[in-house]
Amino acid sequence: MSHIHRLPPHVINHIAAGEVIEQPVSVVKELIENALDAGASRIEVDLLHGGRERITVSDNGHGIEHTSVPLLFERYATSKFNDLNDFSTLKSLGFRGEALFSIMNAADVTVISRSYREPEGTWIRTHNGKVEEVRPIGCRVGTMFMIDHLFAQFPVRKLTMEVKKNTQQIKQLISRYALAYPAVSFVLKHNNTILLAFFDQEDSVDRIVKHWELPKTQVFELSATHDDWRFTTWLSHPKSFATHKRHQLLVINERPVEMSALHQTIEKSLKTFTHAGKHPQYVFLLEIAPQLLDVNIHPQKLTVTIADQERIFDEICHRLEQALEQILPSELRFSADELFSQSSSETWSVKEPTALYLAGPFIQLDNTFIITPTQDGFLLIDQHAADERLWYNSLLQNKTLLSEVEQEIGIECQQELDDDVYQHSFEREINARIATIACHQAIRAGQKLSQEEMRTLVQDVIDGGNETLVCPHGRPTHIVISKAQLEGVFRRR
Ligand code: ADP
Ligand code: MG
Repeated sequence: MSHIHRLPPHVINHIAAGEVIEQPVSVVKELIENALDAGASRIEVDLLHGGRERITVSDNGHGIEHTSVPLLFERYATSKFNDLNDFSTLKSLGFRGEALFSIMNAADVTVISRSYREPEGTWIRTHNGKVEEVRPIGCRVGTMFMIDHLFAQFPVRKLTMEVKKNTQQIKQLISRYALAYPAVSFVLKHNNTILLAFFDQEDSVDRIVKHWELPKTQVFELSATHDDWRFTTWLSHPKSFATHKRHQLLVINERPVEMSALHQTIEKSLKTFTHAGKHPQYVFLLEIAPQLLDVNIHPQKLTVTIADQERIFDEICHRLEQALEQILPSELRFSADELFSQSSSETWSVKEPTALYLAGPFIQLDNTFIITPTQDGFLLIDQHAADERLWYNSLLQNKTLLSEVEQEIGIECQQELDDDVYQHSFEREINARIATIACHQAIRAGQKLSQEEMRTLVQDVIDGGNETLVCPHGRPTHIVISKAQLEGVFRRR
């Protein structure tokens, strides 16, 4: 190991840049935030090859004045923030003065900008982390940043950039800003094709339904005001809750943020309307007294903290529950949720299969479900889902069938798919076909079963342990309800 020494400035700059700019999406985020801070009402992002080759962000904001140009790319140089007292009134998205410095150290940058106060614009070009050329240019008011050869000096990051993934992340990012800033129009182009467009005539609801791909009737608005906070939220109807959390957006004081405690608060208030595996879709705008909010936590400015957070979130949860009570009919409440809420993971799994002693009797409900007592509660089985899974497991062992299906699918889709997605889709397709065969073979819902048939089915499902928990389509095959859970539900303890 050598002695301690100071790192040369270009190495320090390189390391610092990597903290702020991790992906092409980080560049787009910083440039969009600068455009919004400049008061733009129109922002356009153009990508070439997912941003690997070029990212262009243009805005119609107030532009950059000649006098600001020498400090534009300097680290910790900003026009938005003077001293620590400003934090309590901070309105802008940027304040650290690090983004342009970092981008310049991770790529070559060209800027064309004209301030609304000046008759002429400026053209600036950087290369290898230095400003190389500045000259006047005639142009419209506003700013355009062109970022070329991103991560040319970061070989590993460059190698791991994937066009599809980067484009998807940027699309997701722009949608989030478009929902958070409904007065601003956003356009995203990839290789000169429009991928996304939000126009200024569209209000919040128009944008939300477009992004969530839902009809307007499936989205409703709630709001509440308190002494030091106020919220407005748009929620999807419980019937349109999603299997993912991509459509959950928090905006605090006009800043899109990540804050798991607030997500949990919102999900908690909607718990009795939420079925297992589903998540509400929402845009939640919170306005809070600026002195209660700390935004200076992370170089990417994604996380924030709130003073007295627990109290505020409890109040929000309460107000949301009250509002939901008025707006949503109670039959939408998922009453089974109460039954299973105490130990949901236990409910859906067979923890100790051998401990379940099946003495019968086996009762068929509506010729669809089977109920049977165990020594510690009872077991409820969906006969079709359970048998379908048993068939599926055994068909997957059948080599002749598998190779027949493989051949059939191989011929059908070999030419259609890109190499990188081929293998994955191929396996998925095989599983889907086997699942269809299993579905046709399995005992149907509505089919009457004898005691012996029910005993065999139940025993096979129990013996399958983790291999028979869900049907090939992901629905549970059975539920084990323990005496302890029943005692909890009936408040016996
Ligand atoms: P920060 O946003 O934290 O101030 P940046 O490095 O992102 O730091 O930007 C530095 C400065 O460059 C900003 O404070 C602003 O004055 C100016 N600037 C950057 N982008 C734009 C833009 N699109 N329009 C007008 N001014 C801009
Ligand atoms: Mg900035």
